[in-house]
Amino acid sequence: MDKLLSLVVPVFNEEECILEFISQVRSELDDSPLHYEIVFADDGSTDNTVELIRGEIGNDSRIRLVELSYNHGKQAALTAAVTYSNGDYLIYMDPDLQDPPKEISRFIAKIEEGYDLVFGVRESKEAGFVDVLFSKVFWLILDVFTGLKLPRPLAVMRIFNRDFANRFLDYKESNRFIEGIFMHIGMRQATLVIRQKQRFAGKSKYNFARKLRLAKDAILDYSELPLKLATRVGIILVITSLLAVLTLTILRLFFIDFQLGWPSLICTLWFGFGINLLFLGVIGSYVGKIYSESKHRPLFSTQRLTNIKQS
Ligand code: UDP
Ligand code: MG
Repeated sequence: MDKLLSLVVPVFNEEECILEFISQVRSELDDSPLHYEIVFADDGSTDNTVELIRGEIGNDSRIRLVELSYNHGKQAALTAAVTYSNGDYLIYMDPDLQDPPKEISRFIAKIEEGYDLVFGVRESKEAGFVDVLFSKVFWLILDVFTGLKLPRPLAVMRIFNRDFANRFLDYKESNRFIEGIFMHIGMRQATLVIRQKQRFAGKSKYNFARKLRLAKDAILDYSELPLKLATRVGIILVITSLLAVLTLTILRLFFIDFQLGWPSLICTLWFGFGINLLFLGVIGSYVGKIYSESKHRPLFSTQRLTNIKQS
């Protein structure tokens, strides 16, 4: 096959995995007729990752490195890797070997059947109970809020063609939810079941708080439901409170001679203020995002390119 394959790989403090990743990719692809390059986007690593990659580039010109000038988050790092890749096919995978390079040839065979994007779907994830539970809840919330019908359980590994990659690069939003963008691009999509492994070494960079932030960003990028909820809850509250006033007035005038005490008053006020603040917060979040999008900042800031020609 005379097509070029780009592995687009975001890396952040992966010194324990990176060499093993490169060597597994080599042993998988070197005997195949496939041309390939590995485009690493370093997301501001503070360990030895960058030095290790540069060392490899010294004797393997197929490896390329774009260094972001600080930690931007994986979504921006992936975008940087795609930006500097040249391949006809692009495979997005993490270097922690949860997605085994052994699966690459199956992805290529699948996309050659005539698709633009093939999502990897996990057959089994050898992950802890909390991780599994969290990712279930994460995707469920995203389903409800964004209405996106993403294949599940989604793996990181996926392949897409040049046409798809170019469309992806047309999306300029800085608050980005990659899967949402992929679904919005659409085109001919398929899934491929793969067997995932455990992280080769090192720790997950996504703790609970970071994952929550990811979910919030995804919702803010892809859903207007929270804003619409504000209106709906507001209307329901106004109607029910008017009904309550009416009922209480009728009761007081014609039936019962009761005295309304302050506790009910306080509770009502509290509830009202709470709802108000809650939805002000929701609206504030969107306004904040609109503000940051309106600045049209570059999606990432690069510090140094190694083995990459700038066009
Ligand atoms: N990553 C990144 N920037 C970050 C955090 C993570 O580029 O700020 C990379 C990291 O090197 C890894 C991938 O994103 O290759 C996924 O991270 P990780 O494996 O820690 O997450 P998990 O697989 O546990 O969700
Ligand atoms: Mg991982």
